[in-house]
Amino acid sequence: MKECSDIRGLLDAFVDNEMSSTEAAAVQRHVESCSSCSAHVESLLRLKATLSELPRPKASGRLREHLVQRLRGEKRPLPVALGGRWGLVVAGVAAAMLVVAVSWWAGSYRADQRMYASMVANHQRPISPDAATDMMTSDRQSLWRWLNQRTSFIVPSSLLARSEMALAGGRVLSMDGEKVASIQYRMDEKRVSLFAMESHAPMPASARKSTFKGQPLFIDTYQGYNVLMWREGDLLICAVSALAHSGLMKMLFEGQPEGPLKV
Ligand SMILES: [Zn+2]
Repeated sequence: MKECSDIRGLLDAFVDNEMSSTEAAAVQRHVESCSSCSAHVESLLRLKATLSELPRPKASGRLREHLVQRLRGEKRPLPVALGGRWGLVVAGVAAAMLVVAVSWWAGSYRADQRMYASMVANHQRPISPDAATDMMTSDRQSLWRWLNQRTSFIVPSSLLARSEMALAGGRVLSMDGEKVASIQYRMDEKRVSLFAMESHAPMPASARKSTFKGQPLFIDTYQGYNVLMWREGDLLICAVSALAHSGLMKMLFEGQPEGPLKV
């Protein structure tokens, strides 16, 4: 177990999900058992949340159109009939707006990458009988209750009703300061992780739109893992696995659901 002084310098990278999964797991183990470091993590997460809530300046109309073209690499001149000094001012404003647009895009790109990195790191970490964040069980009823006691939302019971997959257990984790419920299954010797979180953020820009048996889905790949995403009410549900997208879809939306769970 590392000392607080070793851990402190790593916490910024930890909350930004910029560590390897082994490193992050070591930090997480310490944070879970150390109230002072966990308070420090809480304050970093609060600061991050505050920063992300700051209003972003908005470009509008023709200027936005122009910026989108600039971002796409189409160099069309700004259609402004002004010359001289005013032309320079308009060009300066356009340049500033471009910077705002690029940093906004970079910000949401970073948030998407953080979400993917965090899901993959958690997917790679098997459910442990020793971790306070984990419940190792094949009993879907008790896992459902355990997860719902630890989140501010109700995990859709359909996520626990896949009889083709062997239930390994669940975990409650924190992503960008929000509680996320995760469920781990095994199927064909491969792990399948499901994540449920309250999110109204748009789907990551890299994700492709798809449907399976009438279910609208988004599909992506991150560091060799396949990702499926869909919405259920206020919740964003993500599935992560080394299994192919098609196999995952079949299992999640075509499989035989087990009987209902009791609240
Ligand atoms: Zn500590």
